Amino acid sequence: MRYIKDILGQYKSELSDIYDANEIQAIFYRLLPDFYGIERLDVSLNPDLKVDETKLLSALTKLKQHKPWQYITGQTEFYGLKFKVNPAILIPRPETEELVDWIISDLKNVSSPRILDIGTGSGVIAISLAANLPDASVTAIDISEAALQTAEVNAGLHRVAVRFKQINILNQTDCEEAYDIIVSNPPYVRENEKKMMQANVLQYEPETALFVPDKKPLLFYEKIISLAINNRTSVVYFEINEFLKLELENLLKNFEIANYEFKKDMFDKWRFVKLMLRQAQ
Ligand code: GLN
Repeated sequence: MRYIKDILGQYKSELSDIYDANEIQAIFYRLLPDFYGIERLDVSLNPDLKVDETKLLSALTKLKQHKPWQYITGQTEFYGLKFKVNPAILIPRPETEELVDWIISDLKNVSSPRILDIGTGSGVIAISLAANLPDASVTAIDISEAALQTAEVNAGLHRVAVRFKQINILNQTDCEEAYDIIVSNPPYVRENEKKMMQANVLQYEPETALFVPDKKPLLFYEKIISLAINNRTSVVYFEINEFLKLELENLLKNFEIANYEFKKDMFDKWRFVKLMLRQAQ
């Protein structure tokens, strides 16, 4: 048994090359409840708490190899809900909560919206929409079977009815069913942006969820917009690459879409766009 505060000290010294002190502390207090059921408050109230350090030291080894803490605990939080995560799916980003929030505030008074989430991954967007819009019917698709399995478990955890389908959107010629709303956080990082990215993302997170070719970075947006137009969808919400706003504006011009709104995220980056394709009936 060792003092928790001493193990935290070891984390701070051994992870200082990778994370700053605040991040290390935040990660540490994410692991503690998972491993021992001990919260940060318990440690504050009882600074002499001790634990068997085995789990924390094995996690420390993985963190030093840049493994994200979410893949170590196997779970994370999104929009106030807990989600299972694993290396088959991208770890949900806090920015994406803002996209969900935007959609929920737009749709809270809309009756029975039919929503399609494209590239659902862990299912966070579809599931948090379904959990907060009880009137909505939500369908979520992904190319990855492993992702869909995780998303189904997550939907079960929150007892929401989301329909999941395995589909490669790039091969689709239509949406198969009518949807009022389409939302997508597709892969949008260009290969040439890899050099700006952290080792924890590059070494552990699924490439198919992240990267697009340098020469065709908007391929998912182009495909989804044309499907949405054919589908007579009313509104499309996208998460976007902060560096591609101009390119997206050009794409919208090509589609003759004039009614749209870009939005920044909490980090002051251009991160979302809403396309109003048709007036709601
Ligand atoms: N924002 C994510 C990242 O920077 C990428 C998400 C995506 O490609 N859709 O890692």
